Amino acid sequence: FGALQSTDPEIADVVLGELSRLRGGLQLIASENLTSPAVLAAVGSTLSNKYAEGYPGRRYYGGCAEVDKAELIGIERAKALFGAEHVNMQPHSGASANIAAYAAFAKPGDTILAMDLKQGGHLTHGSRVNFSGKWFNAISYSVRKDTELIDYDQVRDLAREHRPKIIIAGATAYARLIDFAAFREIADEVGAILMVDAAHFIGLVAGKAIPSPVPYADVVTFSTHKVLRGPRGGMILSKAEHAKAIDKAIFPFNQGGPLMHSVAGKAVALKEASTPEFETYAAQVVTNAAALAESLEAEGMRAVSGGTDTHLALIDLRGLGVTGAQAEERADLAKITLNKNAIPYDPEKPMTASGIRVGSPSVTTQGMIESDMARIGTLIARAVRAEPGTTAGDAELAEVASAVETLVAAHPAYPRPA
Ligand code: PLP
Repeated sequence: FGALQSTDPEIADVVLGELSRLRGGLQLIASENLTSPAVLAAVGSTLSNKYAEGYPGRRYYGGCAEVDKAELIGIERAKALFGAEHVNMQPHSGASANIAAYAAFAKPGDTILAMDLKQGGHLTHGSRVNFSGKWFNAISYSVRKDTELIDYDQVRDLAREHRPKIIIAGATAYARLIDFAAFREIADEVGAILMVDAAHFIGLVAGKAIPSPVPYADVVTFSTHKVLRGPRGGMILSKAEHAKAIDKAIFPFNQGGPLMHSVAGKAVALKEASTPEFETYAAQVVTNAAALAESLEAEGMRAVSGGTDTHLALIDLRGLGVTGAQAEERADLAKITLNKNAIPYDPEKPMTASGIRVGSPSVTTQGMIESDMARIGTLIARAVRAEPGTTAGDAELAEVASAVETLVAAHPAYPRPA
């Protein structure tokens, strides 16, 4: 870090500023986590220099002996951890992994069936502003209005009607377990590929806190930096029969040289995720998310679908008369980082939204438990109710920020060496 400070103090200040932000507030973005110093060391290593187009043992560049080892170690670790037949470590991100999975099984104009973005799906699941909605005939399924759970009857009906090439299970803002067996049955009935986008929850699968999609899916895509706590990046697991198609769809179809520092960082994260400590962590992530949802409900904020089975909760704020955008801004002023989020059948526009999404991965990495979640729930409620720009509101937000500082001081992110 000394080299960075002397060469580029401006960027060094940004790095330190971000570290202070992480240490000084509560991070409740469901798709974020705090990677270990070991992962950060791999990502900040000289492996970043290496061109390694191709795959281990079959590269288009010389000098790949060392980086080959990192990729092979990562592949073996992922196979063992997830029980996967084939692993591709190279996607630059979850979105890149999804592009490759689509490319492996479909051509432009083909039909895909995935969860509606407005109901919790991801942009890459057929949104009109994304390649997935522009290049494919994207059909969307929803959650039921009464239960706010995936409407499996609708999935089956749409699959029968549209005969999609690929059915996608997995979401960005869905707090409940997904019935992978039901999706498999539907995919088999219509001859579709079942792709599970496990970006959000693969870390919980690694930690054995929730059931795995791997036995059911033809292909499982994910980003590596969410609950899994790896570096920014993506990965793909697949059945052996799809190995060639998946590998070709990453390189040469969709990417050039892999980011070997990130591949090494993913390998480190997979080692960490294979430990009993990570299983304890994953179980606590789920317990904490449930405790946080319960605490918010006690404060008059409704948990969509009545709660959570995972690392996140989607919260309907309409009972408080506050929008998601207002809540995000107010929480931010109180040093609580979370995001506004549309709730199913949301009457508001996405930039306003009626809800927020809260996640427990980062605070659980910091060692927080259920009692801390109860306090966080109260602090969120106080912040969200406080109106900035009024004397009382500003005073309340300052008080909440100070309570947040006390809480995070007891569970520091990236603790300073003693
Ligand atoms: N798929 C899902 C379900 C996601 O939630 C996300 C990101 O949040 C992605 C894919 C894209 O991942 P990335 O941001 O790594 O490209």
